[in-house]
Amino acid sequence: MIGIKIDLRSDTVTKPTAGMLEAMMTAKVGDDVFGEDETVHQLETKLAATFNMEAGLFCPSGTMTNQIAIKCFTQPMDEVICDQTAHVYRYEGGGIAYHSMASVRLLNGPRGIITPEMIEPEINDDNIHYPNSSLVVLENTVNKGGGACYHLAQIEPIHTLCNIKGLKLHLDGARIFNALVATGNSPKHYGQYFDGISVCLSKGLGAPVGSVLLGSKEMIRKAVKIRKAFGGGMRQAGFLAAAGIYALDHHVQRLSIDHDHAKSLSAALKQVNYVVSVMPVATNIVIFEVAAGFKAENIVHLLAEKGIACNTFGPATVRMVTHLDLSSEMIDRAIEIILHLHPSAHK
Ligand SMILES: *Cc1c(COP(=O)(O)O)cnc(C)c1O
Repeated sequence: MIGIKIDLRSDTVTKPTAGMLEAMMTAKVGDDVFGEDETVHQLETKLAATFNMEAGLFCPSGTMTNQIAIKCFTQPMDEVICDQTAHVYRYEGGGIAYHSMASVRLLNGPRGIITPEMIEPEINDDNIHYPNSSLVVLENTVNKGGGACYHLAQIEPIHTLCNIKGLKLHLDGARIFNALVATGNSPKHYGQYFDGISVCLSKGLGAPVGSVLLGSKEMIRKAVKIRKAFGGGMRQAGFLAAAGIYALDHHVQRLSIDHDHAKSLSAALKQVNYVVSVMPVATNIVIFEVAAGFKAENIVHLLAEKGIACNTFGPATVRMVTHLDLSSEMIDRAIEIILHLHPSAHK
C-alpha cells in the first residue's frame, strides 16, 4: 500500500470532479464588476432563494463574506458577541478590529454552542462607558466544537432576543449544509432568523473557490461596495460560480456519507490505547484527545508515515475531517491503520 494518501486534514482539500469541471468550462460569463455575469447572478439568486433571503453576493472566501457582514452590521466602537471558539474571532486575522474597529465579547458555550441565557447578560446597557452591543455571530456547524450543530429550535430564541434588544444576527454558515443534513432542518426557515448568512462552497461541497453572503437587498447593496473596497470584485467569475451551482445540485445530499465516515473513524479511535476521548461526532469533524504520555504531534507524524494526513488541534488534540474525495475503501483503510498503530508513550 505504498503511496496511498488519505487526506483528513480538512474538507477544503477536495478537487473539482469531472462533472464540475465540465460545468465550469461551459459557463456563460461576463464582467461581474459591471454586474454582467449571468452565472454569478444565477448562483446568488439560487442560494438566496434556498435560504429565503432577498439577495446574495459571491465572494472569494468565507473570511471575506463574514468580515463584510460584520462591517455591514457594526459601526466603529461597537461590540460583537460570539463564542470564544468562533472562526470570525480566532481565524480571520484579527479582521473584526482591523476592518470594523469593533471590540468582541466572548462567550464560553459547550462545544461553541451559545444560548440566549448566555448572550443576554453580555449585552451592554446604553451608557457612555460601554461599547454599543450591535451584533451576535453564530457558527453552524462549530468547527472548533467538533462539528457540533444548532437546531432551528435553538436559533429561534436567540433571534427573538436580538430582535428585542436591537442587535443584528449573523450566521457563519461555512458548513451550514452539514448542519442541515444532520438535523433535517430546512434552509427555507433560516432566512427569517438571520440578518446575514455566509455559506462556503469550497468546504464539503467540493467547489474550488468561493462563498456567498446572503442578506436583505439593502444590506447586499452595501456589501457590494465593501467587497470592492476589500479587493474582492471579480470579473468573469462565472467559471467559479458554475462550480458552486454544480456543488449545490450534486454534493449536498451526499454529505450524510461524510457524516457516516466520521462516525466510523470515531468508533475506531475509541478502541485504541493512545486516544483517551473522542468528541461525540455530529457531522463531518472528528476531534480526539490523546492519552496521557502521548503527544498529538507524534501521533499525527506516525499516521502520516502510514499515509494518513491530519492536523493537531492543540498540544493533545487531533482533528480529522471527512469529505467527498474520500471513498468508503479509503475510510476502511484509515481505520485499519488507526487500529494497528502502536505509538510508544513518553514518560
Ligand atoms: C473555513 C471557515 C470559514 C471561511 O474560511 P475561508 O478559508 O476564508 O473560506 C469561516 N468559518 C468557518 C467556521 C470555517 O470553518
